[in-house]
Amino acid sequence: MPKRIYSLLPALALCALFAQPMGAQEAQQQAAAAKPDSPEVLSHIEKAKKIAGTYWASAEHFLCEAPRANPATDPGPVKLFDNFWAIPGQYSVGNAVTYVFPTSAGIMLIDPGHAKDVESVLLPGLKTLGLDPANIKVVILAHGHEDHFGGSAYLQEHYGAHIFMAAADWDFINIPRPPAAGGNAAPPVPLPKRDMVAFEGVPITLGDESVTPVFIPGHTPGSLGLIFPVKDGGKSHVVGMVGGGFIAQGSASQVSEFIDSLEHFEQWTKMMKVDVEIQNHPVFDGFADKLAALRARKPGEPNPFVVGEANYTKFVELMTECARATMYRQKP
Ligand SMILES: [Zn+2]
Repeated sequence: MPKRIYSLLPALALCALFAQPMGAQEAQQQAAAAKPDSPEVLSHIEKAKKIAGTYWASAEHFLCEAPRANPATDPGPVKLFDNFWAIPGQYSVGNAVTYVFPTSAGIMLIDPGHAKDVESVLLPGLKTLGLDPANIKVVILAHGHEDHFGGSAYLQEHYGAHIFMAAADWDFINIPRPPAAGGNAAPPVPLPKRDMVAFEGVPITLGDESVTPVFIPGHTPGSLGLIFPVKDGGKSHVVGMVGGGFIAQGSASQVSEFIDSLEHFEQWTKMMKVDVEIQNHPVFDGFADKLAALRARKPGEPNPFVVGEANYTKFVELMTECARATMYRQKP
């Protein structure tokens, strides 16, 4: 794992390993300046389109062709499954969604979000869901960018929550960063104190809930894929979350590592029979439409987040093909 590559990245660059949303004129200028895609790039886009079909067409378009996403309007806290809830906030490429397990032994969270949003989004969100933040026991960090770990120091300090992250990202967040150029330094990021280490295949358990981490380095050195059971009206399903986002720009070694990680994660998701697709940056998987469908759902209708095992595999495979397109697109 060539860690030195990551030390060259700008200071804790959130998840924005690709261009931020831009104005129409700026987008046109960039499009005009971009070199045409090579035959290799186009062949991977074609493969991704075939895998995606109509079901994942928008994911393919976002990942392979036009990565642009504006912050969403906060849809408010929502119960996705009996035992798996979400506090989306203004989710976007630079704002992770916080996920919540109300377990028999207290609250377990995935990705508490930005430090600045703890008191304004996370804690009120938990209260809306009828949960007392004082009962937060476990916080799982899918990777070491501030929009995921930022709130964890607060939860550790105020509630004694245990923070789980891969060892590589405990190291990664503690790499000293140079101050931002131009005197526009962002406020210092509150780092959680080094705590629990997540290991591949070793479930993180609180009460009656367990989350299995899978190492998927690329986006960061210690990014995690997460797999866990959920219940929908008592019926069991298994969620897969590619917790290491996606890479539309990054070093060649990062992209290549991410491709290997996605292939590795695919094997795990097949083995564990994942049939529910959830992302911590749900900007390309139809999250908003699925939330709307969930709200309009009548008794007996299917949960829109259950995509089925074959469709989940297609989702990971199209991510992989689009990462390959990215790799060839970056070749000189
Ligand atoms: Zn990130």
